[in-house]
Amino acid sequence: MTTINVRHETLRIAGRRVDNQRRIEVRYPFTGELVGTVPKATLDDVRAAFRTAAAYQPTLTRYDRHRILQRTAELLLAHQEDISDLITLEAGISKKDSRYEVTRAYDVFMLSGLLCLQDDAEVFSCDITPNGQKRKIYTTRAPLRAIAAITPFNHPLNQVAHKIAPSIATNNCMVLKPSEKTPLTALLLADLLYEAGLPPEMFSVITGDPAEICDEMLTSEYSDMITFTGGVSIGKYIAAKAAYKRQLLELGGNDPLIVMEDADLERAATLAVNGATKNSGQRCTAVKRILVVESVADRFVELVTDKARAIRCGDPMSPDSDMGTVIDEEAARLFQRRVDDAIAAGAELKHGHQREGALYCPTVIDRVAPEAEVVLQETFGPVIPIIRCPNDIEAVIRISNSTAYGLSSGVCTDNLKYITRFIEGLEVGTVNVWEVPGYRIEMSPFGGIKDSGLGYKEGVLEAMKHYTNLKTYSLPW
Ligand code: NAD
Repeated sequence: MTTINVRHETLRIAGRRVDNQRRIEVRYPFTGELVGTVPKATLDDVRAAFRTAAAYQPTLTRYDRHRILQRTAELLLAHQEDISDLITLEAGISKKDSRYEVTRAYDVFMLSGLLCLQDDAEVFSCDITPNGQKRKIYTTRAPLRAIAAITPFNHPLNQVAHKIAPSIATNNCMVLKPSEKTPLTALLLADLLYEAGLPPEMFSVITGDPAEICDEMLTSEYSDMITFTGGVSIGKYIAAKAAYKRQLLELGGNDPLIVMEDADLERAATLAVNGATKNSGQRCTAVKRILVVESVADRFVELVTDKARAIRCGDPMSPDSDMGTVIDEEAARLFQRRVDDAIAAGAELKHGHQREGALYCPTVIDRVAPEAEVVLQETFGPVIPIIRCPNDIEAVIRISNSTAYGLSSGVCTDNLKYITRFIEGLEVGTVNVWEVPGYRIEMSPFGGIKDSGLGYKEGVLEAMKHYTNLKTYSLPW
């Protein structure tokens, strides 16, 4: 039995705690118990947050920013257990997953703290053509006015870290709206940032009903940019609504793990099951489709089924659970319905497909048709659908590219001809050979194409570039 200390939270507007009577409840997906409540911000709250952010001119030196970011990284580790408990309570993911999330956020702050020490200014000599002059052109970066950030539920800490850490590294002021499903961790992070010395004007957190406040966030006269991570439909709404603002849109994925006939099947099956079930399958880059060539499919399916069976799925707070719940019962019911439909259309259930409330255990289905909804749409949960493909790399690439998404991919083969063809032919932002699609380090460029994003990348370094205006100046020299 888990004891929950219910948190009744306030907004953080430039560090000021602002409250009101209208509340959103956050419940533990495993039991339905109350974990906390947050205010529904008013439009005036949102306006005040953006006005304050735009008016404030940060003066932190690179060293100051470095120190704040490093201190935050250290505070995250010092409070790892408490933060991981809170993530598990509001999101339902296992303690193994939530502990890992804290270490990822540590990396984000630690790397941002290092990267902000480095000036990426460039120098161009101008005397390099017949028209040249004895001058030099220099580049320098300046922060924007306020940045609006909106994050999804699936990594309540790390998605927020990826927004705010590069913002601090570049001396920006940010107003964040975390998911109303998991807003508590973001508020806790704000307090750690203030404790680490961040001027409170540089970070505000607004919680509330998106239908009431999001349009104001997208169109505020005080902001220059919106950075959004979430699903495709809201991403496209933002693309249309936030007119003439810089937009960084990191949207849904439907990533394949591809297994060719030469692959070590044991290793590939481990990647498949881990990639599909970590974080309860709720990662934008989770393995959402497995494409295996027919000649090795029988053996591969056996291995995947055995490994899925070995996953301990249950009480998220138990240290023994590998996997906890998905975000809510509604999501679990959707996966169940999609799997039912796939089975009705001829797929074979190999394991799982039991649901209890929001707990939906890893579910292996074989012989899934590429056009089945469970693989054509993003299924944001622990479903492991196997699509058998012809023994022909071009057919595999065609099937892989046949959805609207283009985020990432994993490829299991040692054949260099295949590898080069996949890198060239897969319509995605990332190709990981012998790794899950989600493999990355927190500073490497990351992001998708097609419906998964506009091709502008995140990852600490890329985000730092998007969060700044590049200015050039030239001098006679
Ligand atoms: P979602 O799109 O439902 O919500 C994301 C955020 O948008 C939430 O904070 C929500 O309150 C807000 N929102 C709701 N209505 C809005 C509106 N009209 N205008 C602006 N914002 C609005 O996503 P989710 O269910 O929280 O998260 C899951 C999705 O996020 C999946 O599709 C997943 O693939 C995607 N995701 C993408 C990445 C990536 O880096 N590409 C990473 C993680 C998650």
